Amino acid sequence: MSAALFSLAGKNAIVTGANTGLGGAIAVALAQAGADIAAVGRTNPSGTEAQVKSAGRKFHWIEADLRSTKHAARIVGECVERLGGVDILVNNAGTIKRADAIEFSEADWDEVMDVNLKSAFFLAQAAARHMLDTGRRGKIINIASMLSFQGGIRVASYTASKSGLAGLTRLMANEWAAKGINVNAIAPGYFETNNTEALRQDPVRSRDILARIPAGRWGKPDDLGGAAVFLASSASDYVHGTILAVDGGRLAR
Ligand code: NAP
Repeated sequence: MSAALFSLAGKNAIVTGANTGLGGAIAVALAQAGADIAAVGRTNPSGTEAQVKSAGRKFHWIEADLRSTKHAARIVGECVERLGGVDILVNNAGTIKRADAIEFSEADWDEVMDVNLKSAFFLAQAAARHMLDTGRRGKIINIASMLSFQGGIRVASYTASKSGLAGLTRLMANEWAAKGINVNAIAPGYFETNNTEALRQDPVRSRDILARIPAGRWGKPDDLGGAAVFLASSASDYVHGTILAVDGGRLAR
């Protein structure tokens, strides 16, 4: 097998939420495999920019708040203008709100659903329109969760959004597979990022989570790089609608 199967040379990738955590690590992994990167988000991704540039790749920040879908067409347009096209979209930006279901607020429902699910869909739609219009092979990767499979606790809107994102991954794959676009998802297990800080600070939850990870440790953002490069590269051309768990074996328990 040729290593070229995994090369992203000449490809352009949009990665949302790439200033930190999993998105930052994914952007750097794609760049190290040869892709130029357009990072989308609210916060200046200067640390990621430095790492992408030191891998010898181009980097462009597209400032956007993904609570609104109004930026979707502009994001794709700006990536086309600055990098020359969009071959890969990674819908990584995500947020989480924690409260008992009995008192969960509509505001916490709406914000999480808007960022994690609605924006992801309309950005995928905008990217797919461009991919189809330009006749290019496209790769769309949604960042799902263990809560795409499980119920979770105290995270009603997060579970709804990530379960919905798994369903949408399959729907988009069904509609676009024959047109040359691969839509898949990565379901990270428990990773050391801002998103899980509250869990890691809680000694009881933290111990319970660790006890159920066969690998015996929390994931580090770099652990996701290989899965992201695989799903972004031609190595995965016949992979459609899958939700690839990268979880230290958590789902196997
Ligand atoms: P994180 O460190 O909290 O990063 C979240 C990213 O999303 C940040 O870049 C953040 O940008 C961006 N974001 C949030 N709200 C946004 C908005 N309204 N507009 C634009 N960008 C926004 O979390 P993470 O752990 O790396 O999570 C990345 C993805 O992986 C999320 O979809 C998360 O649900 C998923 N995930 C994480 C884990 C885990 O264990 N960490 C497990 C399963 C799934 P700002 O800094 O500007 O807010």
